[in-house]
Amino acid sequence: MTEGRLNTTGYSREEDEDIELKLRPTRFEEYFGQEKIKENMKVFVQAALNRGEALDHVLLYGQPGLGKTTLSGIIAASMGAKLKITAGPAIERPGDMAAILNDLSEGDFLFIDEIHRLNRNIEEILYPAMEDFVLDIIIGKGPGARSIRLDLPKFTLVGATTRIGLLTAPLRDRFGVVHHLEPYKVEELVTIITRSAKVLDVGMTPKGAEEIARRARGTPRIANRLLKRVRDFAQVRYDGNITQEVAKDSLDRLDIDPMGLDAVDMKILRAIIDKFGGGPVGLDTLAASIDEEAGTLEDVAEPYLLQLGFIQRTPRGRIVTRLGYSHLGLRPPPTFANDNQLILE
Ligand code: ADP
Repeated sequence: MTEGRLNTTGYSREEDEDIELKLRPTRFEEYFGQEKIKENMKVFVQAALNRGEALDHVLLYGQPGLGKTTLSGIIAASMGAKLKITAGPAIERPGDMAAILNDLSEGDFLFIDEIHRLNRNIEEILYPAMEDFVLDIIIGKGPGARSIRLDLPKFTLVGATTRIGLLTAPLRDRFGVVHHLEPYKVEELVTIITRSAKVLDVGMTPKGAEEIARRARGTPRIANRLLKRVRDFAQVRYDGNITQEVAKDSLDRLDIDPMGLDAVDMKILRAIIDKFGGGPVGLDTLAASIDEEAGTLEDVAEPYLLQLGFIQRTPRGRIVTRLGYSHLGLRPPPTFANDNQLILE
C-alpha cells in the first residue's frame, strides 16, 4: 500500500525487490522492536515444538510496513516450517481457497495478507479448516448436491490485516494468538537502519541514522526505503557516507519534512484547511478533493497524522488541530477556541 510512494529512483522494480529481500530479517535476533510480541511468540513456538504440534493460528494487525510478513516468516522458520504467502484479494472463488488449503503439508504456515478482504463465502471455508482441519466440499447443485469432507494436514494460518475492525467476529475468534504491531520508536528504527546500512554496504554515522529514523513515520519499510534513497544522494552528490547533513539534504530534496510528513500528508492538511475551513470533513470527500483513495488515506496517511496529533477524528469528520496548524506555520482561525470545543459542538 505504501508501495509506489517515493519510488522515484533509477532502480528498476526488480532491483528494488532484490534489495528488499536482502533487508528482510530471517531470524528473531535480526527483528528489532516489538519485544513483547517477540517474547510471547518465542514461548508459543517452543511450546508447540515441545508438544510436536502445529502452532495455533496467529492474527497480526497493524499499519502496512510494520513487519507482519517478516515476523510470520521468522515464526515459520523457527518452527522449521514453510511459509506460503497469499492475500485476501487474490483469492476470488471458494474453489481457490479450497485448492490452497488442499495443497498444504503437515506443519505448513499459510500467510494471508489483507485477510479482512476475503469474501464471506470464502471465509466460511476457513472456519472448519481452522477449527477441525477439514475441508467441506459441496459437489453438484440443487437437490442432488452433496457435501464431502476431506481431512487437511495440521497447518498454521497467519492472518495479517491493517483493519482489525473489518474482520468478522467468527473469523477473528478462530485465531488463538492475536497481536497488535505498534509503530516503532526512533531508537528501534535507528537499529534497523544501521543493520540495513551494513547489508547495503554503505557507511553511515549514528546521527545520519537518527535523521532518517525520525522521518520514517515509525515504520521499518519506510525507514529502509528512505535509507536507499539517501544512499543514492550520498553516492552521487557526496562522498558515499551518510552523515546527518547528507541525510537532511537528501530527505529535504525528497519533500520528506523533519517530522516525516510527505507530499500526501501536506496535501491532506492543506486541503482540510484551505478547502474545508479546517474541517470537519468526511474521509471520502477529503479523499476525492485530493484525488487519493479513501483506503490509502485511512491506512497510510491518517494514522501518522493522528499519532502526531495534527488531525483529529470527530463524529462529523476530520479536523486539523492547533498543532497541525502550527506545523504548517499557520494560525488557527479565530473560531478555533480549542480542539475539544470543536468536537463537542
Ligand atoms: P508488513 O507485512 O507489516 O506490511 P513487512 O514485514 O513486509 O511489513 O516489513 C517491511 C520491511 O520492513 C521488511 O522487508 C523488513 O526489511 C523491514 N522490517 C519490518 N519489521 C522489521 C523489524 N522488526 N526489524 C527489522 N526490519 C524490519
